[in-house]
Amino acid sequence: MNELEQELQRRQAAHLYRRRRVVDSAQGAEIVVEGRPLLSFCSNDYLGLANHPAVIAAMQQGAANYGVGSGAAHLVTGHQTPHHRLEEELAAFTGYPRALLFSTGYMANLGAVSALCGAGDAVFEDRLNHASLLDAGLLSRARLQRFPHGDVAALDERLAESKAQRKLIVTDGVFSMDGDIAPLRALADTAQRHGAWLMMDDAHGLGVIGAHGRGAMEVCGLTPRELPLLVGTLGKGFGSFGAFVAADALIIETLIQQARPYIYTTALPPAVAEATRASLRIIQSDEGAERRAHLTALVQRFRAGAQQLGLALMESPTAIQPLLVGDAGKAVQLSEALLATGILISAIRPPTVPEGTARLRITLSAAHTAAQVDALLDALQYIALPLLREDS
Ligand SMILES: *Cc1c(COP(=O)(O)O)cnc(C)c1O
Repeated sequence: MNELEQELQRRQAAHLYRRRRVVDSAQGAEIVVEGRPLLSFCSNDYLGLANHPAVIAAMQQGAANYGVGSGAAHLVTGHQTPHHRLEEELAAFTGYPRALLFSTGYMANLGAVSALCGAGDAVFEDRLNHASLLDAGLLSRARLQRFPHGDVAALDERLAESKAQRKLIVTDGVFSMDGDIAPLRALADTAQRHGAWLMMDDAHGLGVIGAHGRGAMEVCGLTPRELPLLVGTLGKGFGSFGAFVAADALIIETLIQQARPYIYTTALPPAVAEATRASLRIIQSDEGAERRAHLTALVQRFRAGAQQLGLALMESPTAIQPLLVGDAGKAVQLSEALLATGILISAIRPPTVPEGTARLRITLSAAHTAAQVDALLDALQYIALPLLREDS
């Protein structure tokens, strides 16, 4: 017990201790946290669908028709009509023959990688991949090799040296803590040259970027043939919950037979699937296109304003606009100073990001107004900038 306490104290001293906040309201640009209204710039509800009336109504109707619990795993009696329809609609949306629902993105990644790779195989991962992808590589017992962020030449060398039977390249589509898009075209070419499979987790891109909301794949012009495995999560841009893998029938059938995080868990509540179907309809409609256009305009407004202030933004074209701080203690200090003025932005620290790259992870949403982005810029000018300059 003493050891646990020492570890917690060490974290606290290093400004790495994490605390939860209790949010009293629904998600939105303005949320109520422990009784206090705040302007939030840290949600992944990029399109503002988590609290959308049509999505709420679909969930209510879904609960009325199908009840709350799915009662069992998909392979027993948990696979209900809403799940099945959602899978068909997600396959059509992404352009793949099949899609398979998982309860969370974390589980989709664990399930896909561990079902397709094992001892004797090799998994190649971008160094900045999401933790669930790295855990998936470890769980699979394949040889896990990490390559420097976005460095396709380094990956190419590793692939050339590898004698593994099966080679799987795994990348985020939009990198969750940096906001940049993976060099998918080059990754696909490299995969093809070495007979490797390419898998992309587009948790932060799907629904949100691309003219039709089809994510990083659409932005980079990749076909399902070039990207045999697509993972999408439904708790971010879709504003609901869950995840899916899109692939051909052979891969999907293999996952159904072999992916333990698919087989040994209760299916999502059917009402959640109904809510997600409503989100997907919005994403594919004119309203979805308008929400994406509004978000793009906000991102441009924010970047132009931040540039004028001389703030060091990262090279991100997406809704994730991190402000690099470096020191974890400083990042926490900035986050707290902004909180005091009513603006909520979380400080992201190691081990979520590499040592020495703590940052404020600012995220924009179609739920924000231009005036709210201006309020953020004001706060950064008068609160954050003076603190950032203190030690330079
Ligand atoms: C959030 C996230 C996940 C996990 O998805 P959940 O549905 O929240 O479990 C997986 N991959 C990436 C890149 C993510 O950002």
